[in-house]
Amino acid sequence: MNIRHHLDDATLMVYAAGSLSEGMSLLVASHIDRCAHCQQRMRQAEAVGGALLEELAPVALAPDALDQVLALLETNAGSPEMQTPVRVRSQDADIPMPLAQYLNKPLDELDWRTLVPGVRQLDLRLGGPGATRLLRIAPGLSVPHHSHRGNELTLILRGSYSDELGRFQAGDVADLDEQISHQPISDSGEDCICLIATDAPLRFSGLMVRLVQPFIGL
Ligand SMILES: [Zn+2]
Repeated sequence: MNIRHHLDDATLMVYAAGSLSEGMSLLVASHIDRCAHCQQRMRQAEAVGGALLEELAPVALAPDALDQVLALLETNAGSPEMQTPVRVRSQDADIPMPLAQYLNKPLDELDWRTLVPGVRQLDLRLGGPGATRLLRIAPGLSVPHHSHRGNELTLILRGSYSDELGRFQAGDVADLDEQISHQPISDSGEDCICLIATDAPLRFSGLMVRLVQPFIGL
């Protein structure tokens, strides 16, 4: 996999600190799973985070602080969300391992919903102010021109697209903030399938699209 577009330092730092939303964390983990470059930078981000923590003035701890932490760990160990997730085998070579935990079928067999002809989506329904979805765009089609109220992360799983920022192929990630307005066009002979996580709703440029936005669920 020849990955050319990577995660921003800021995104890696926030991810390392555990402060990204579930959807964005899933996307970052899915990129890192296949990107040796970002695996290396992630280790650096964790080292920097650890060094910063050591720099902080020590806080006075209650005498039984350690016992409290141990008790907490013990309590959480029994609850389902703290258990190590079962390692599901990816059903589809195009699905990175972290994402495979959320999908029960290969990409072609998922319950895709048509937004407009040639553009289909699957909402992972992870909650939060933004959204986490798979988008499937037929060759030659584009997503309407839009900017962002917040951040948008896109990971290409299959196919490719081009926009004002360049060409993005399988494994590449587009890490966009609200300064960027773009119109991705699916530009290879197969559907472009990508995982997209936002932390706020998108902002479309055209009036017509803005009018239908609540109905098409973007
Ligand atoms: Zn990378």
